[in-house]
Amino acid sequence: MNEKKRATLILIGGGHTHALLLNKIRQSGFPPCRVILISSTRYTPYSGMLPGVIAGHYTVEQSHIDLKVLAEETACEFIEEKVSALNPDKQQVTTESGEVLEYDWVSINTGSTQRRTVKASNAITIKPVEQFLHWLETDTRLAHEPFNLAIAGAGAAGVEVALALRERFKSNKQLDIHILVAGQKILSGYSIKVQALMKEELERKNIQIHFGFAASTSKDENVLISTDQETLKYDQLILATPAIPVPWLVESDLAVNSGGFISINQHLQSTSHSNIFACGDVADFQSPDHDIKGLPKCGVYAVRQAPTLYSNLKAHLTGEALQSFQPQPKFLSLLSCADGRAIASRGWLETRGRLVWVWKDWLDRQFMARFPLPKKDAMKYSDT
Ligand SMILES: Cc1cc2nc3c(=O)[nH]c(=O)nc-3n(C[C@H](O)[C@H](O)[C@H](O)COP(=O)(O)OP(=O)(O)OC[C@H]3O[C@@H](n4cnc5c(N)ncnc54)[C@H](O)[C@@H]3O)c2cc1C
Repeated sequence: MNEKKRATLILIGGGHTHALLLNKIRQSGFPPCRVILISSTRYTPYSGMLPGVIAGHYTVEQSHIDLKVLAEETACEFIEEKVSALNPDKQQVTTESGEVLEYDWVSINTGSTQRRTVKASNAITIKPVEQFLHWLETDTRLAHEPFNLAIAGAGAAGVEVALALRERFKSNKQLDIHILVAGQKILSGYSIKVQALMKEELERKNIQIHFGFAASTSKDENVLISTDQETLKYDQLILATPAIPVPWLVESDLAVNSGGFISINQHLQSTSHSNIFACGDVADFQSPDHDIKGLPKCGVYAVRQAPTLYSNLKAHLTGEALQSFQPQPKFLSLLSCADGRAIASRGWLETRGRLVWVWKDWLDRQFMARFPLPKKDAMKYSDT
């Protein structure tokens, strides 16, 4: 009976921000209330280690957080389910199995997926990550056969995945890897020096870059065609194309930007509903104070937003003033070359080498050391 009277906070999605939020609650406490985490997956991936998992540097378990155990240690209820609807007026969340949960305030951290720019057969997106890793574990063709792999998109995810796949399948000399770039540069948003270092790296690993190749499907199956009629035959296409939000959001009445991402203010609060917060990739951060209109979709911001989210979710109960999130204009970016080297960039620092990898590996392991990890072999991706 008391359960119903307690204020209820629902956390939708177990992304980086919510994992860190639970960790903070575990360490510092939270005013009495009912907290429920709903995540489509019990094990949530840490993006910084994904290229390392693909390349074989880490086990899948080393790179995932066990949300169920984390929630248990935080006195938070855990529901492993996909949220399929949010009704801000009735203050209800609906899961795919039809369960309806009422909330007083809610926080959304459901990440993003890739835009399906090409409606092609044999095409897979990198996110959801569990689906991608399952494909990687079960598709045996890449290891042994003549194979043409095409990757659409040359942002950080596209290039890191290309290098990691080259490393993983380096014994297969008949594996051709192609990166399709709609424009004329890779890693847009990065400096010219970092773009050049990465281009050199891809070329050194015999990964073919096709600039100006905005792919569409030809009438022949497994052939891509560019706007200039260049064709590319492929066996598998990986979409590392621009991020889009999870589809159910668009149907809620939340204010979203033109891309469908939740519009949030400097307090990480929905611009249309003050009892709804959003963070990470799913949110479109706008701060008139700092003249910021949108942030890049990268894990760094999802991580940095956690302390502000903790304060502001708490403030909903305590009545304290809301904190503003202040994104740093520059942040350290570490890109894995997948062979024991990495590229670092932050302001004037732009370098590549083994020490950078040692540094990245140390930072990533430190990050994961805060969380409960899945038990050995808990995450079996193979069907057997
Ligand atoms: C290969 C690769 C490498 C990357 N490397 C880097 C890097 O080095 N540095 C960097 O800053 N960024 C990197 N990124 C980008 C980074 O992955 C994202 O920016 C980051 O994951 C966003 O975090 P998030 O907290 O918003 O959500 P996510 O980490 O994506 O988590 C979202 C969670 O919500 C759950 N979820 C989704 N939909 C629902 C639903 N309907 N109901 C319930 N739960 C749901 C998902 O299962 C998932 O657990 C990389 C991305 C990729 C693909």
